[in-house]
Amino acid sequence: MHEHVLHDILHQLTHTAHDAGRPVPRLLAVSKTRDETAVANLALKGQTAFGENYVQEALAKQNAMAGTAAAGLALEWHLIGHLQSNKAAEAATRFDWVQTVDRLKLVTALARHRRADQAALNVLIQVNIDDEASKHGCRPDEVEALATAIAAESRLCLRGLMVIPAPHDEPELLRPAFRRSKQLFDSLTQTHRSVDTLSMGMSDDYAVAIAEGSTMVRIGTALFGARAKPQS
Ligand SMILES: *Cc1c(COP(=O)(O)O)cnc(C)c1O
Repeated sequence: MHEHVLHDILHQLTHTAHDAGRPVPRLLAVSKTRDETAVANLALKGQTAFGENYVQEALAKQNAMAGTAAAGLALEWHLIGHLQSNKAAEAATRFDWVQTVDRLKLVTALARHRRADQAALNVLIQVNIDDEASKHGCRPDEVEALATAIAAESRLCLRGLMVIPAPHDEPELLRPAFRRSKQLFDSLTQTHRSVDTLSMGMSDDYAVAIAEGSTMVRIGTALFGARAKPQS
């Protein structure tokens, strides 16, 4: 990684937010397919929050971190990939955040497996904001019921929403989906006081997402370079 990439991205986030009159979003470094050395290098520069798509890959990487110069740093791990119910037990104890909660069964499983000696697991409801047939995430009209179920679990802390709009070549075309997401987020903050996070925006579209009110951007390629193998 280029020496100043992290600094440059943080600078971009700050500038974009100030220009748009929005709060500066948190940066989630998406480290899927990157090895523990790449994660350690970024962690040593001060980045603390990392996003992973696959439970097994994340667990192996977390274990491997012990052998790096970043061993002992307090990192925050976010699951941002689809979670199968049979992986919920591992996800519940080995992540700090799960951003892809989209059905009641997951709420119950995560709550059951989060250990009593751990802080409550932070969760985001993933919303299928463009109603795409093959996409994960709940429908917008299912958010409130899921939120109520999460809020009733003492081992879970409802923090907000995560969205992945339908892809477009032109980031500007994502603006309506980001705007609808923000409206949904705003109404959720009215009913649930713990809600403070709207996770939206990736390497190609974070500027539009921030302008529309994102509080957390998930960035991989712009931080680490192009991924070697395609990821869903
Ligand atoms: C891979 C991924 C990202 C990061 O995408 P980049 O284009 O590399 O920044 C963000 N969010 C999710 C859910 C992802 O799967």
